[in-house]
Amino acid sequence: KVRLTGVTKRFPGAEEVTALQDVSLEIGESEFVAIVGPSGCGKSTLLRLVTGLQAPTSGTVDIRQSKPGRPKTAMVFQEHALFPWLSVRDNVAFGPRNRDVPKREAAEIADAQLARLGLGRFGDFYPHQLSGGMKQRVGIARALAQDAEILLMDEPLGALDAQTRTLLQEQILELRQESRPTVLYITHAIDEAVFLSDRVVLMSARPGRIRDIIELDFPLDRSPELRGTPEFAK
Ligand code: ATP
Ligand code: MG
Repeated sequence: KVRLTGVTKRFPGAEEVTALQDVSLEIGESEFVAIVGPSGCGKSTLLRLVTGLQAPTSGTVDIRQSKPGRPKTAMVFQEHALFPWLSVRDNVAFGPRNRDVPKREAAEIADAQLARLGLGRFGDFYPHQLSGGMKQRVGIARALAQDAEILLMDEPLGALDAQTRTLLQEQILELRQESRPTVLYITHAIDEAVFLSDRVVLMSARPGRIRDIIELDFPLDRSPELRGTPEFAK
């Protein structure tokens, strides 16, 4: 579904940075792939190349479109990036409205996504009235409402406290079991990557490259008892 072939990205300057070097990666339909690596190894750059916001210096990025007119990517940001002047419902309806879905129908799509994330009662609220974890859930609902080929998540839980993170990890796990989206998920936390994904891609920095790929047997035993043990602790 998504294929990166020999992707290199350099940022020229006095001190040229090779953000990514010869990265090849395939993500299949409904696969959940996590990318883990130190700061500066090119994780966000990789996402920007997949969105098409930036072009690779060499190599290719291909996304196979399953439905004409369907957006290729939708993004969940580390700091939710909600529009403060729009209600929660209108934030989530933003993508469908952009695709000219009629207002009423877009609001219905938004309400359905909000309900899925346990935020059914909060459509009329504004972002500043919500907790950090709730805002992050609205960010996820907004991305889901775009119905894109691939969901890109750049450290979506990075700014949250440990307890809220665990809660949202459970919700993301439920979502993926329910609707099997294709996801490229960035995190610093290896335990989170293992908990959520089919495959963990380990990267190293300077230059940013893939060091290892770990195939996981999804679903692992994700029972709550196991999650409390040291193997899963940070
Ligand atoms: P973090 O975990 O801190 O978010 P990251 O893995 O997402 O890091 P990137 O943001 O992709 O890392 O950056 C990779 C490298 O490319 C870094 O050395 C960064 O300084 C450099 N870089 C990224 N964007 C640009 C740019 N627009 N111009 C110049 N250098 C850039
Ligand atoms: Mg980053």
